[in-house]
Amino acid sequence: MRGHAAAGVAGSPSVPGRSLAGVPVTTTAYAAESPVARTRRARRIYRALVERYPYAHAELDFASPLQLLVATVLSAQTTDVTVNKVTPEVFSRWPSAQALAAADRAQMEEVLKPTGFFRAKTNSVITLSQALVDRFGGEVPPRLKDLVTLPGVGRKTANVVLGNAFGVPGITVDTHFGRLARRFGWTEETDPVKVEHEVGALFPRKDWVMLSHVLIFHGRRTCHARRPACGACPVARLCPSYGEGETDPRVALTLLKYELAPGAELPDPPPGPLPGEQRGESS
Ligand code: SF4
Repeated sequence: MRGHAAAGVAGSPSVPGRSLAGVPVTTTAYAAESPVARTRRARRIYRALVERYPYAHAELDFASPLQLLVATVLSAQTTDVTVNKVTPEVFSRWPSAQALAAADRAQMEEVLKPTGFFRAKTNSVITLSQALVDRFGGEVPPRLKDLVTLPGVGRKTANVVLGNAFGVPGITVDTHFGRLARRFGWTEETDPVKVEHEVGALFPRKDWVMLSHVLIFHGRRTCHARRPACGACPVARLCPSYGEGETDPRVALTLLKYELAPGAELPDPPPGPLPGEQRGESS
């Protein structure tokens, strides 16, 4: 594995700066890039990722804001695939906030067992549903400031629900989004709320939901936490972290996951123009 100087960006995590009393001082690539250049590069990365994942979407199955809220709570410490296996039974047995609030704890624990931490999750779902019934008439409120007052609902969960069930622009900073935003040099922050604000400033609000989807897709399929597939990455030339992972294209291809894995089939792209295409967005 080795690094290279990506075109148009500082190509390493740090660049040499002034020397003070013989001690080399370094400036991070983030600090060396102007805000305008960073915005331009960020939008180019976004467009390349939309081209790679035109079908990116919330991977939790849901048919209502309540279902998405509960599914998101259940997705802690497990995969969306696992959550999607249990939620049909959850919502057929307890189809409303009122029913979830009054659920038999032991029965719900049994249904939620495959998702792990099933006792804590049962407690979260019941407590959350009771709060929805008591304070919001059993409906999921469509505002961030209300959602975050619900037990167990933080900004990440609230933004997932707002963006995908209510069409309200929001950025979902999960583990993949935060890692990729830092690898891309869009931020140096580790606090999710600071990441959300700093990255949000690089993009128009209308792109925030799709931005969240494509970064999470890229993190799950290509830019893995431990061994990113740099040699098979569509944004390698725009990424200052190229070389953190496998750069040999043949080996990198074998690291791709899900529909990009060798032998897997790509889903059809959605009909119509891709996000950003119709308005000729500037770079
Ligand atoms: S896979 Fe490598 S080149 Fe691609 S975004 Fe991740 S670190 Fe950058």
